[in-house]
Amino acid sequence: MSQTQLISIVLPVYNESAGIKKTIAVLENYVEARDEQYELIFVDDGSSDDTVAKINAAMAQCRNVRLVQFSRNFGHQLAISAGIRYASGDAVVVMDADLQDPPSVIPAMIAQWQAGYAVVYGKRRHRDGETWFKKVSAAAFYRLLRAMTSTDIPVDTGDFRLMDRKVVDVLKQFDETDPYVRGLVSWVGFKQTGVLYDRQDRNAGKSKYPLKKMLHLALNGITSFSTIPLTLALWFSGLALGISVLSVLIAELTGTLGATVWIVASLFFLGSGLFLSLGIIGSYLGRVFNQSRERPLYIVAQTQGFAQNKFQQYQ
Ligand code: UDP
Ligand code: MG
Repeated sequence: MSQTQLISIVLPVYNESAGIKKTIAVLENYVEARDEQYELIFVDDGSSDDTVAKINAAMAQCRNVRLVQFSRNFGHQLAISAGIRYASGDAVVVMDADLQDPPSVIPAMIAQWQAGYAVVYGKRRHRDGETWFKKVSAAAFYRLLRAMTSTDIPVDTGDFRLMDRKVVDVLKQFDETDPYVRGLVSWVGFKQTGVLYDRQDRNAGKSKYPLKKMLHLALNGITSFSTIPLTLALWFSGLALGISVLSVLIAELTGTLGATVWIVASLFFLGSGLFLSLGIIGSYLGRVFNQSRERPLYIVAQTQGFAQNKFQQYQ
């Protein structure tokens, strides 16, 4: 390469006080050993501990550390969205701030990028230190989502990835209130490939993704990339109707107590089907409602370390 390339690393952080110092040290070591130029963009997603103070301390030592600070917790996906807007690299890498995505994988991503791929995503071969429940539910979810959508969203793949400038420029134009970033990156297209890696245990602290946030992310993935659940509601109501008619017929023909049980059971079935359908429609409607309010996606309280604070307005 004739010209030194700039790689932006975007790291969303939320209450990562316990491990942030180590993360920065490991990344600085990595950067030191590489030929490319780097900027490390931390997006503080409204931490209530001293994460920001620790990032500030690192900024006094390292010229390549930058900070975007949200006014409150807006969520991991919006922190990524903000980070890539502030990035000025030829390529942008998104990774967790807890070293679960090891920097040692980045050179393999860069190699594929230089070979002509616009997106190089990290595909998890192993997930260390995660619960049995998380591993099984994540594996099932990725496959379910894939079966439900025509977008080519790779399985076992989180947000750890490298994206070329042209992909980032497209993503910056999206203003979805509840973005499912990894899906949007797949949706953009261009040449995409994966590199296999072993996901590490957290360097410190606990996951900031409790079950509630995980379910929210999963539901967003489905409602933003598939309308099949809406069609499922239609099939379900047909099935419920069929069973009801059948049980009434059985009751008519046999006149037995068993038939009464059948009728009651089918009413329950029908009732639950109706609620399910309402719930599904409600989830999509909620998404439309959230988007229609046209509120800012997130509020940036302040930025530090950027040459000019070029995006310092509300986004
Ligand atoms: N994170 C965030 N906002 C949140 C939750 C998490 O910015 O509301 C950050 C977190 O600090 C971490 C990354 O997003 O750098 C992924 O979160 P976490 O490691 O807790 O998720 P897990 O790896 O357990 O799925
Ligand atoms: Mg993590």
